[in-house]
Formats: sequence, C-alpha cells, structure tokens
Amino acid sequence: MKIAIIGTGYVGLVSAACLASWGHEVVGIDKDAGKIASLRQGIMPIYEPGLEELISQAVGQGLLSFTTSAAPAIAGADIVMIAVGTPPRLRDGEADLSFIYAAAKEIAASLNGFTVVVTKSTVPVGTGDDIERIIARTRPDARFAIASNPEFLRQGSAVADFQAPDRVVIGVDDERAGVLLQELYEPLRLQGIPVMTTQRRTSELIKYAANAFLAVKISYINEMADLCESVGADVRDVALGMGLDRRIGAACLHAGPGYGGSCFPKDTLALLRTSQDHGVSLRIIQESIVANDARKRRMALKVLNALGGNSEGRSVAILGLTFKPETDDMREAASIPLIEALQRVGLHIRAHDPQGMANARSLLNDVEFFDDPYECASGADVVVMMTDWKALKRLDLGRLAQVVRNRVLVDFRHVFDPVEARQHGFSLSTIGVQQEA
Ligand code: NAD
Repeated sequence: MKIAIIGTGYVGLVSAACLASWGHEVVGIDKDAGKIASLRQGIMPIYEPGLEELISQAVGQGLLSFTTSAAPAIAGADIVMIAVGTPPRLRDGEADLSFIYAAAKEIAASLNGFTVVVTKSTVPVGTGDDIERIIARTRPDARFAIASNPEFLRQGSAVADFQAPDRVVIGVDDERAGVLLQELYEPLRLQGIPVMTTQRRTSELIKYAANAFLAVKISYINEMADLCESVGADVRDVALGMGLDRRIGAACLHAGPGYGGSCFPKDTLALLRTSQDHGVSLRIIQESIVANDARKRRMALKVLNALGGNSEGRSVAILGLTFKPETDDMREAASIPLIEALQRVGLHIRAHDPQGMANARSLLNDVEFFDDPYECASGADVVVMMTDWKALKRLDLGRLAQVVRNRVLVDFRHVFDPVEARQHGFSLSTIGVQQEA
C-alpha cells in the first residue's frame, strides 16, 4: 500500500519505519524542514533504540522517503495517517487540536481517489467527526473515510512495541476503511496479536481509558510506597506480591518520583476535561492527577533530608533527566520540578543524561551539564539517581565513592543495592522502604 504519514515525531517516524519494513511504500511528512533535512541525511531527530537501522534499511530499499511537501504524498496515498502532536492547552489542559485540524485541511486540499484517513494521534472522542466535517466542507467531491487507530507504543521500546503490540485497535464507521486497515495489520494478526475493530468514538476513548488506567496504577503504587515508609514495609515486595496476581499484572507497579512524559500527564488531563464537558465525574483519575503533581513537587524534600536539611553551599548531582530511560524526551520529566525546587533552596545542580541533555538544556536554567556521570558526581554533596538508564544502572559505586564530596545517595529508582552502597560508605535513601536509622 502507499501510505503518507503526517508528522515524523516519536509516533510518526516509528510507524513510518515499521510500515515500510513490512513492504509498504511510505512517505513521512513534516512541516519542520530541519527534521526532514536531517532524516534525508540519515541523521535521527530523536533517540529511539533500533530506529536508525530500520530507517536506513527502508530508505535503502526505496520504501521510505521524507518530505515537507504534503500535497503529492497525500494525493498518491491509499492511507494517510495523522501523527501530529496533541499537546495540552496551557489555559485549561484540554487537548490542543490545532495541529490535527491543520493536517485535516492539508489532507482535504490534496485528496485524490478513495483514501482512508487514519488518526494515530491521541485525540478526544469526537475528533474523527471534526476531521470528517473539515474535509467534507473543504472538498465536497472527495471520496474518503476517517478511521481511528490509536498508537500504544512506549518511548524507549517504540520499534519493538509497534512490531509486536499487545493489540491493535481500529475504529471505523465505514466498512471499506475497516477492510483496508485489517489488511494493513494482517502481519500482526498472523502472529496471533489481537486486532480489534470497533466504532470510531469507542476507539478514541480506548486510548485515553488505557493511559489513564496505567497512570492511576502508578499513582496507586506510589501511595503504597509512602505507606510502606511509614509502617516499615518494602514497596518492591508489595509490588511483586501484587503483580504476580494475573488480574493485576506487574507493569506500572514501580514506585518512583511520579509519572511524567508526553502522554500520561496530558492524556489524564484531557480525559478529565472531556468528562467534565459531558457532566460525568471521573474522581479516581482526578485524584491521581492531584497526587502525582504533589508527589513530583515533594521529591525535593527527600534530597534535602538526605543532606540533613542543610543546602548552604551544597551541590547535587542528578543522574538521568529524561522522563524514562532509553529516550531523549524531557516532556513533563519529574527531574524538572525536582531541579527547580532544589534551586529554590539554593542548591547548585550538576546533571548528566545519556541522551537527553540537548533537550534538557533548552528547559533548565543554571544547570551544569556533564557528558560523564562520574565527572557529574565529582565533588557533589549528594548523588540523585533520577532515571534508571541501562548505562546508569552499571555505575561503579566504588568509583563514585572516590569522587563525591559526601557519600550520600538518593535513589528514586531502586537501582543501587543497599548492602553494596553501605560497603562503599554511602548513606542511601530511596522510595517505599523505611529509612535506616
Ligand atoms: P511529536 O511532537 O514527537 O511529533 C509531532 C510531529 O508532527 C512534529 O515533528 C511536528 O513538526 C509535526 N507536525 C505538526 N503539525 C504538522 C503538519 N501540519 N504537517 C506536518 N507535520 C506536522 O509527537 P509524538 O510524541 O510523536 O506524538 C504524536 C501523537 O501521538 C500525540 O497525539 C501523542 O499523544 C500520541 N502518542 C504518543 C506516544 C509517545 O510515546 N510519544 C505514544 C502513543 C501516542
């Protein structure tokens, strides 16, 4: 099939590469000329494991190309996928659909022959109807169908997730669109992966309902972690004991400094706004948002406590800045409110991240960045493990002990072994485990 994908961000680029690897002819479109120029030179605009190889292979086979000119790519496509951002609106947290509507207008202008327009972006219920109206109004002659096909990939393992998802959801109110999309995902169905078809509005809601559920699950285990610290229990074992129950499952039960990223915070908020617009109360999700925001702000106290409450002339080494490991994405990362809170009490911030420092530099002020984690920790009064990158999990505590000023560790991700940390003279504070006296 000929597929045009509008937006070459985390979702669009990964989808483009994977669909081309299945043998389709794919064109990735982006209005960001710098991004397209980089991609044409084989330089990746984002970090995602395995993506560069997949793209270079597909480009080499002539199955994948990149352009800023939407019109010819849309005109030649059987399927046009929309994978543009849907960020939260600053004033109320509702999903900002301006990029979606702009894409719909561009699609309308260039449609040629029967085309299925697929929304991969996460969009509020009813957005498919809006896109349909925009296209029909602009081009009453156009032959098209609108489908919803939400993306569930996770950054850091996006390629693997796209190629072997837990399920594919197709939302269609038009039979021809349903048949075409079933055909598109046939390789996955043949692997035994469920490909479910439902109505378009239901499909749009599935994505939000799933993300909000996962966010609630994280907030749940985070609150259990607080209780563990008070009652002398260990949240890691609580999570293990809970997760072994197949009705619960182990995913998203890692207590930490609060969820971040480009999806959970914005999608929970957008779902809440949808529910309020319809007079429905989603109290569990509302409370989860409040708990998560408060938690992110509260984490600075742990660092201050580890320093004995004294921030005067002290410096903190933050290891890992991105919202999760193996991605360069800093959107809504828990490191941002942590660093800002620590700066407010006068602490000097040193920071290291394996891939996220370019993005972090544009978001954080007065932070000293280091390419090497040991240089970052050098002379620091406390070392904070913020994001559990594979590379950071392998840090040598003996070497770390030699370079720090004070052997104080705050581990928000349960990376360090407490016995080993003690052997190297570190005091260790972590999450969901009662502090040693
Ligand atoms: P992103 O910000 O990384 O990429 C969006 C891209 O779209 C940008 O490159 C931008 O320049 C481009 N763009 C915007 N308007 C355009 C237009 N009119 N024409 C051409 N290009 C245009 O976003 P993302 O993280 O890939 O997310 C995209 C959507 O997918 C969002 O709705 C998000 O919620 C959803 N989603 C994201 C993830 C994730 O892990 N990032 C997972 C599942 C779903």
